[in-house]
Amino acid sequence: MNAIILLNALPVFVDIDIETFQMDPAKMEEKINGNTKAVEPVHIAGLSADMDRINKIAKKHNLMVVEDACQSLFTEYKGKKCGSLGDIGCFSFQVSKIIGCGEGGAAIGNDDELMNRCYSFHTLGVETETGSPARRRWMIGAPKYRMNEFEGSVLLPQLDLLEERVNRRTENAEYLTSNLKDIPGILPQKHYEGQGKATYYTYDFRYKKEHFNDVSLDVFEKALNAEGIPTFRQSIFELNKEPVIENTLNSRTFKKIFSKERLKKYREENECPNNAQRCKESIGIWHWALSGTKEDTDNIYNGILKIYENRDKLT
Ligand SMILES: *Cc1c(COP(=O)(O)O)cnc(C)c1O
Repeated sequence: MNAIILLNALPVFVDIDIETFQMDPAKMEEKINGNTKAVEPVHIAGLSADMDRINKIAKKHNLMVVEDACQSLFTEYKGKKCGSLGDIGCFSFQVSKIIGCGEGGAAIGNDDELMNRCYSFHTLGVETETGSPARRRWMIGAPKYRMNEFEGSVLLPQLDLLEERVNRRTENAEYLTSNLKDIPGILPQKHYEGQGKATYYTYDFRYKKEHFNDVSLDVFEKALNAEGIPTFRQSIFELNKEPVIENTLNSRTFKKIFSKERLKKYREENECPNNAQRCKESIGIWHWALSGTKEDTDNIYNGILKIYENRDKLT
């Protein structure tokens, strides 16, 4: 969203599928207009979005596909890795991610011309490094997002651990999902056909309080934490309703660029009811809790079961 706003473009939100928590391709087409340039699916929580359908719609409308794979490093979809399924794949190495070096990130792609533009954008807008650096020309006005060698040296050894960790989390997460079937009111994030092994940045599920004596999600989360289960709620607030949206639409720049009618229409159409529901119901378990042994995974299940069995005592 921020990247789009900083280009003085309107970020148009597509609602999610309530069962997979990913952008719903069925809701994508109605959001496309003559000014749409790109679509940005987010592979949320370490699972893949429905990329075949998204790519197909993007192709039909001549849109670039920019994958936000920050939470899905090494997640596979139909035998390929997330971030390699669209035109550009984006990754983050910020501290909470699967591998981290403090701050930093990466963008990948196969189109040299496009990658040269990415390179230029991340390094002050100068040309790609061909020939003498002193002969490089300044092409565009751009920021400096360069990662330094120190960060790289912290990051690189972590790559060696990645495959094994993803394999282990995939195994543990699938085991947890098969156990959780017994507990009513716990609805794990569903996969699309083609989902291979997955990063499980967070193991997300929806919590249906009617099966837990109407105990709120806040209280349920406290109970999980008391059982030693580390949680993260990615979506407490609806992103499309955050103050940044109104602040941006009301800015002088946006009022100059977009007509009153366009901004009015944007406001009217800026509704994502499934995502609103997800914000109320979903919670995740941090990746490191799923990186342990089968016994550790049993402990997560037993903790949730204990809460379910004692739901009458929760307040
Ligand atoms: C972490 C994250 C980002 C941002 O990463 P930064 O490195 O902080 O810019 C973007 N998208 C998703 C889905 C993320 O999880």
